[in-house]
Amino acid sequence: GVEELAAVGTTSAEAFARAQAVIPGGVNSPVRAFGSVGGTPPFIASARGAYVTDVDGHEYVDLVGSWGPALLGHAHPEVVAAVQDAAARGLSFGAPTVAEVELVNEIRHRLPAAEKVRLVSTGTEATMTALRLARAFTGRDLVVKFAGCYHGHVDALLASAGSGVATLGLPDSAGVSAAVAAETIVLPYNDVAAVEQAFATHGDRIAAVITEAAPANMGVVPPLPGFNATLRRLTIEHGALLVQDEVLTGFRVGYSGWWGLEGLREGWAADLFTFGKVIGGGLPVAAVGGRRDVMNQLAPVGPVYQAGTLSGNPVATAAGLATLRLADASVYAQVDAVSAQLRTEISSALAAEDLPHAVQWAGNLFSTFFGAAGAAGARDYATVLTTESWRYAPFHRALLEAGVYAPPSPFEAWFVSAAHDDAAVDRIVSALPAAARAAAEA
Ligand code: PMP
Repeated sequence: GVEELAAVGTTSAEAFARAQAVIPGGVNSPVRAFGSVGGTPPFIASARGAYVTDVDGHEYVDLVGSWGPALLGHAHPEVVAAVQDAAARGLSFGAPTVAEVELVNEIRHRLPAAEKVRLVSTGTEATMTALRLARAFTGRDLVVKFAGCYHGHVDALLASAGSGVATLGLPDSAGVSAAVAAETIVLPYNDVAAVEQAFATHGDRIAAVITEAAPANMGVVPPLPGFNATLRRLTIEHGALLVQDEVLTGFRVGYSGWWGLEGLREGWAADLFTFGKVIGGGLPVAAVGGRRDVMNQLAPVGPVYQAGTLSGNPVATAAGLATLRLADASVYAQVDAVSAQLRTEISSALAAEDLPHAVQWAGNLFSTFFGAAGAAGARDYATVLTTESWRYAPFHRALLEAGVYAPPSPFEAWFVSAAHDDAAVDRIVSALPAAARAAAEA
């Protein structure tokens, strides 16, 4: 436990130094290094419910939630039991299991347009496979993506990406060949005219438009009413596929993901969807799903190759299945309510300091933009970059000192869980005045 680690003298500072010597940046995913907020990242020893505990023995209310999977809170007893049961039956077979069919049917039940589904291990694999499928199905090469949207570290999708690419202020990634980059058209988000123009110019060469169903990797920038429906109309008109990336939103913003809040009401669906995070409940599961005729292009039925040694892993599948089965209407009601309460509290704390801002939200995902440009509302990545994002570091630092672990980047959404009860919310609310002051004084 924590005492044991402390007894052998391990602190986050020591662990970070050791890690930096042998792991690039000391972390296995860049944003974890706290580069844009400064200081030493807490090294986590354990997590339970709404809380994480670091090796130094500090307990924090967690607003990262493993970047999305922890919808039920950490280490939900029934999920842990399902994982333990599965593990006891064997860790990996490399052969089909019944649980995979059950997980896929759970996804299909929530989002019937996912007629067929292939399980993979990461969101990156899911979007990579979606693009390969779209190119094979249409016989075209070009892909449209939006600036500030993050779809994993797929070569073709790193151009003007959000998440860690935004946090580190990288224009793009090095190591992506010019030939690959030339096949990606990057457009401003929420800009219908730009999409129409791209189709007018390259329409017969565009295989797919890929978009976050509701972007949450440049901070939260919700789609303007009708934007996604316009993407649906234009892709149909020009024979391209629409790929809705629901890796982050899928089965977090509601029972049927973002599609349940928009497409279901409006009567349309994308051709392909990608999922991740919640469908693995904290273990590595992601998926690509969609139209039967498109999905049947995948090997062994069709000519598009895709595979994975650990795809459909039985332990990971058990975690995802248990999580989805527990994620009923009451879970979404609780997450939505906590999200709404925190948005109000953040806003009033910042208003009390006369700091112009906007807390933008999409479903139960939200993030805060500072300064006049933020207050005016950020509709695209270019606007996000004009907000006073440097105020986030002192804001974050003050929260951390008060026992609240917010995402260590101004460009990431805040994640709450169904385990965020009154006590957890109270700790966040009481930390906000000092954090707002620190942001205002920065
Ligand atoms: N798409 C979206 C919308 C994401 O938010 C992420 C991860 N944050 C990914 C894809 C990539 O998923 P992974 O990190 O599992 O590769």
